[in-house]
Amino acid sequence: MYCSVILRGSVRQTDNLYTYRIPEEMRSDVNCGSLIYVPFGKGDSERCAVVVDITDSFEGDEGVIKDIASVISSLPVLNSDQIALIDKISERFNCTKGDVVELMVPSCVVNHKNPVEVFAELVSKETAQEVLDSETLRSVAHINILEYLLERGKCTRKELMSSLSCSSAQVKALEDKGLVRLVKETSDNEVPVISVSGGVPEGKFTEEYDLSDEQETAIGEILKGIDEKKDNTYLVFGITGSGKTEVYLNIAKKVISEGGSVIYMVPEISLTPQTINWIKGRLGDSVAVLHSRLTDKQRYEQWNNIRTGKARVIVGPRSGVFAPAVNLRLIILDEEHDGSYKAESHPRYSARDIARMRSKITGASVVLGSATPSVESFYAANAGAYKLLELKSRARQEATLPEIIPVDMKEQVKLGSGDMLSLPLRQAMSVAFSQNKQVILLLNRRGFSRTLVCEDCGEPVTCKNCSVAMTLHNNRRNGTQSLICHYCGYTIPSYEARCSFCNSNHFTKAGFGTQQLEEFLHSVFPHEKVLRMDQDSTMTPGAHKEIIEKFAAKEASILIGTQMIAKGLDFPDVTVVGVLGADLMLASSSFKASERAFQLITQAAGRAGRGETPGKVFIQSYRPDQPLLQFACTQNYRAFYEQEIEYRQKLNLPPYKALGEIVLSLPEEDLLIKRANELAKYLNDFLGFQDKKYKFEVYGPMPCVIYELRGRYRMSFVIKAVNKSAINGVFKRLIADFDHTKYPMSYDNDPQDG
Ligand code: ADP
Ligand code: ZN
Ligand code: ZN
Repeated sequence: MYCSVILRGSVRQTDNLYTYRIPEEMRSDVNCGSLIYVPFGKGDSERCAVVVDITDSFEGDEGVIKDIASVISSLPVLNSDQIALIDKISERFNCTKGDVVELMVPSCVVNHKNPVEVFAELVSKETAQEVLDSETLRSVAHINILEYLLERGKCTRKELMSSLSCSSAQVKALEDKGLVRLVKETSDNEVPVISVSGGVPEGKFTEEYDLSDEQETAIGEILKGIDEKKDNTYLVFGITGSGKTEVYLNIAKKVISEGGSVIYMVPEISLTPQTINWIKGRLGDSVAVLHSRLTDKQRYEQWNNIRTGKARVIVGPRSGVFAPAVNLRLIILDEEHDGSYKAESHPRYSARDIARMRSKITGASVVLGSATPSVESFYAANAGAYKLLELKSRARQEATLPEIIPVDMKEQVKLGSGDMLSLPLRQAMSVAFSQNKQVILLLNRRGFSRTLVCEDCGEPVTCKNCSVAMTLHNNRRNGTQSLICHYCGYTIPSYEARCSFCNSNHFTKAGFGTQQLEEFLHSVFPHEKVLRMDQDSTMTPGAHKEIIEKFAAKEASILIGTQMIAKGLDFPDVTVVGVLGADLMLASSSFKASERAFQLITQAAGRAGRGETPGKVFIQSYRPDQPLLQFACTQNYRAFYEQEIEYRQKLNLPPYKALGEIVLSLPEEDLLIKRANELAKYLNDFLGFQDKKYKFEVYGPMPCVIYELRGRYRMSFVIKAVNKSAINGVFKRLIADFDHTKYPMSYDNDPQDG
């Protein structure tokens, strides 16, 4: 027998299907999906591989075929729907099949030291003795085996075969005669026996509600879809607090009661003990949780429970989409718009896309949920590709939406209150402290330090073609500074910048950081304790969790931080939220800046007034009248969407056209510029020849927003085309035509950040 394998983590040169012979004694241990070691290459070094096909015969030169070295896991590590996904993912995300195997089979599985072994034992000693005594057995091997087992008792089949030089077929024959029993067991006792969940929480976590009509309808629709076993996708569009979680829990419960499995993804940052308790409390001990803080052993345990079907609900971040779920019927993506569902290093996959691909293969339904859906998803729902289910009111009657108050910072600066905390916000904070309540201050710094903003009106310098903020680059050769648009490459010297809003030419690298804010708070509210959550304060593992726990325990009354704190946290005593520097969120150089700002403000608002006291949210801006902030303040997602989709259409951005980004990076700057220009010429020539129907546009080369990274300089190209497969076609050509060692490029067909 032979098997075809994919090498785990293969590079492009070794990304083929390789055929190996299965030695006789391993035949019953090698299945489709088994994980094995194979000798590979000239030196026959051992490589980890997964079996994707098994055949009786092999057409070709038998002499070159090698034997499998050993079996790591006989029990499949991939089920058939996952194997079917491998090619599709490698095609869609421009990675090797081996990269996909690596995503699906985490290293804890490869390193797991408890290989399953086959043991042989006698069904009954008496019968065996009788058979031997009756001298009816013709085969010497059969006699030897029975005698060996009578003498020594249970042993591994391997031991039998090597001690007696018999074959597995001969052992099998005795099994067929009902004399020997073959059992698969792990060869040592280290097998995890701990329950999947580590205890099911009780009390408030198990409480069930009478569903609202809207919840009832959504649940009914989705359950109908799940029964159809078609690739149905639902978008649950429900305001914060509308009880989306309740919808997910109800449908998940139904699916597991029918023997199906559910993948339930939440953004990494929301994967808190709180969230996990809610899910476990309601769905019981068939929940497996995959998160980044697990040790290898714990991760293996969870993973193994999933593949054996013991765990039926898989809770995890984006990587959960690869879980070896048995009889997968439902995939949930909570907060589907969240950026963490997209991987930002190779392979740059999107969990949302993979969920849809998996759904096509398995017939599992996909449920996307959000209060602020991504523009792409809402567009798909409007176009009928997804079914839209709306939850328009808050689930708990007593919960009211917080009041969202725009604050004009131009006036505040004139009044002398400075550019950090406006008077209305400061007053509300004082009131909150006097009532023993808490305050969250949100300061989003993402990318803004590289843009210039108008000193007079707070507007960033935007590209005349693309309306995104231009990024500031230092030209170290001649000491000048330029502003560059990251989407079309439009460049101006920084002294030529004019504010597109008020025509001023005074610009500054405005903004302040979380540390400055913290110091300022100490001077204004010297008696209040402040916790700060940003990239610096969460460098060490567990720091994030620790800050949240301290704040929940009310060890501090103020929590300040970046977008990290806006997501999914539930602090009932927070009554005031301040969004500082709302303009700077919009000044990011990404085409998703508006979408992100709207999402962030909505989420921040969702943090206020989760308990009995209604909340207040202050949005500080130099231009509080701009439409986006108005839409955010009135929580009018549809109005926001209408404005945004018009902009996307005008500029041929997703969802109207697909976007591709190619980044070339080299340690020497001169060489980078030379090669980038060669690449530009190639791209322009090549795309110039293509059929007009693909609607290719190519921009670049231009320096990346972050030009220097880990000792390399980086230039990018942006391509627009009708769809992702056209973009992938270009990537494939580049991969084939350029030597990766000379032209190290990365490819992204869904770039999120400018
Ligand atoms: P979302 O995820 O849509 O923001 P949640 O699922 O967090 O909303 O629900 C908000 C609050 O309402 C939670 O405290 C939840 O327990 C409660 N809740 C959900 N459904 C109901 C219901 N049908 N009746 C009463 N309370 C509910
Ligand atoms: Zn531009
Ligand atoms: Zn201005």
